[in-house]
Amino acid sequence: MKQSLIRVWQCFDSEQVKKQLLLAGELSANCENCQHLGINFLQSKQCPQCQTEFKYIGFRTKSNKAEELFAIKRLKEKRPDLIIIDYEDIKRACGKSQARNLLDI
Ligand SMILES: [Zn+2]
Repeated sequence: MKQSLIRVWQCFDSEQVKKQLLLAGELSANCENCQHLGINFLQSKQCPQCQTEFKYIGFRTKSNKAEELFAIKRLKEKRPDLIIIDYEDIKRACGKSQARNLLDI
């Protein structure tokens, strides 16, 4: 059996995702809920500052495709409890809802 990474599109409440999101850089991550920095995303189940239980993880910056795939594979192995999301989707969704709030639609 050959296991491959297949991306799946799914509907989430973007505000809720943001509240339980770890935003990962190269070596550490920050809590999107309270912006606490320096979190070890390979181990931390919750934020040391606001106690949020992490459910999602996204990458702050995207390196090249090969590095991104390597990072995702490593996460899948080390953190099967986290749902890996594309941070661009959250930025887009939250940007849209902020625009809606501003325009009062
Ligand atoms: Zn936090």
